[in-house]
Amino acid sequence: MAKALKIIIFVIALAGLNFWVWSNWKKSDVKSGNSNVISLPALPSASDSNSNADNNTADNQQSDPLADWAPADSPNSDYNPPLLHIDISRKPFGILVSPENSPISPEKFTGYHTGTDFEIAVEDLNKDVSVFAVCSGDVESVEKISGYGGVMVQKCILNNEDIRVIYGHINIDKISIKEGEYLPSGKEFVILADNASELSSGERKHLHLGIWKGTKIDVRGYVQDESELSEWIDFGLIVDLNNIE
Ligand SMILES: [Zn+2]
Repeated sequence: MAKALKIIIFVIALAGLNFWVWSNWKKSDVKSGNSNVISLPALPSASDSNSNADNNTADNQQSDPLADWAPADSPNSDYNPPLLHIDISRKPFGILVSPENSPISPEKFTGYHTGTDFEIAVEDLNKDVSVFAVCSGDVESVEKISGYGGVMVQKCILNNEDIRVIYGHINIDKISIKEGEYLPSGKEFVILADNASELSSGERKHLHLGIWKGTKIDVRGYVQDESELSEWIDFGLIVDLNNIE
């Protein structure tokens, strides 16, 4: 019996030892678990920043207005620049101007520019400067409008949608087409109005080109709320203006 008792005591002692080892292992597990809790955030934050970077890239692609266009690689061959030689646009699409703050002096307008202004070369100031159709379509109207002087509006199609193209500050006394006539892209049809003349509405000699989405045209050259610019299209997104002399 004494031998059996020794065995029982040995087994109990062994079990106790096992329990002690196990409970200490659990504690160290909790500790290492704790230390994992401390080190864990580093891993998720690293992967978070990666996924944020991915999200940012996706967001940028979605919000980038140029995402659907690659003007330099694939200019729209149906569309052409309106002048043969152009200077850097002093009033690009969307610029906010006011009499106190404008690239043009004096400035009489205030608001966001709904078109692109094409500046002439200095040596062309006293020469006839031809204006070419930027797209193919019928002439909708030829008239004088306050702020523009002479204006021609052309009906065109862009990406299967109706648009209206506004050519402002042109010499409509010398225009070669009439309302209702078809005007092909690239065809010369008028010259710019003289500098500071009635047909330029007193403005410098230049072309204002506006692209209106849709058919019910709004000829405003400036809008007071930036969100209204979404009704117009930036011509620089249609034709790569950087590759013109
Ligand atoms: Zn303009």
